[in-house]
Amino acid sequence: MGRDPYVRRMDLVEVLPNRLHMLRFPIGQAYLWQDDGALTLIDAGNRESADAIEGAVRSLGLRPERLERIVLTHCHRDHVGAAAELAARRGARVLAHRLDAPVIRGERPVPEPVLLDWEVPLYAHGLTVSEAPPTPVDRELEDGDALGFGDGAYVVHAPGHTEGSIGVHLPRHGVLFTGDCVAAVGPVMLGVFNVDRARAIASFRRLAALRPATACFGHGDPLTVDTAAVLAKAVAETPA
Ligand SMILES: [Zn+2]
Ligand SMILES: [Zn+2]
Repeated sequence: MGRDPYVRRMDLVEVLPNRLHMLRFPIGQAYLWQDDGALTLIDAGNRESADAIEGAVRSLGLRPERLERIVLTHCHRDHVGAAAELAARRGARVLAHRLDAPVIRGERPVPEPVLLDWEVPLYAHGLTVSEAPPTPVDRELEDGDALGFGDGAYVVHAPGHTEGSIGVHLPRHGVLFTGDCVAAVGPVMLGVFNVDRARAIASFRRLAALRPATACFGHGDPLTVDTAAVLAKAVAETPA
């Protein structure tokens, strides 16, 4: 028994061999990046997922003690979830944009999105995920900040889903993490539940212009084929 039920509630998907894996939860997902055994998480799943994440790390022959940082793409519970517990266990630093940091710390409420009609039931479903605990943020990020992993990973401020939403770009590897600005649940599209749809569309355009070879979304499968073209087409087809 033990932690088996948690493990089964999470899929581990290889995106780039020996570099990048996706950890998929019932709602939401996180990504594990490795640099010679030094580990970075991009997002942290839901509140109950710390054991499952560490189990996934071990199953890859890696050591959870090597978790150095957790980069949060934004303040929502399905992304912040296990960050506090993992950081406390492993001494990892938590990094997030300055504008979402007060929400992640629990000092401010999660901003309410402006929902489109069809988003309303989806949003209610998302709220079935446990609320994230107040989570210390060790470093507040700004657009363009270097993140210290992935041979030059840096922050791309992508506001609109939340004010402090970020993308993470690894130009040397052609990898882009979009957070929830972009989703691939079905076709690649603008993410849902935005506080400011017009700004989210502008952010989507900015992320697509980076023309990554691999795009990793907050929800849905990573894109590894014709990625730049698919993103450009999705931006062009996004209604204002
Ligand atoms: Zn979100
Ligand atoms: Zn999300």
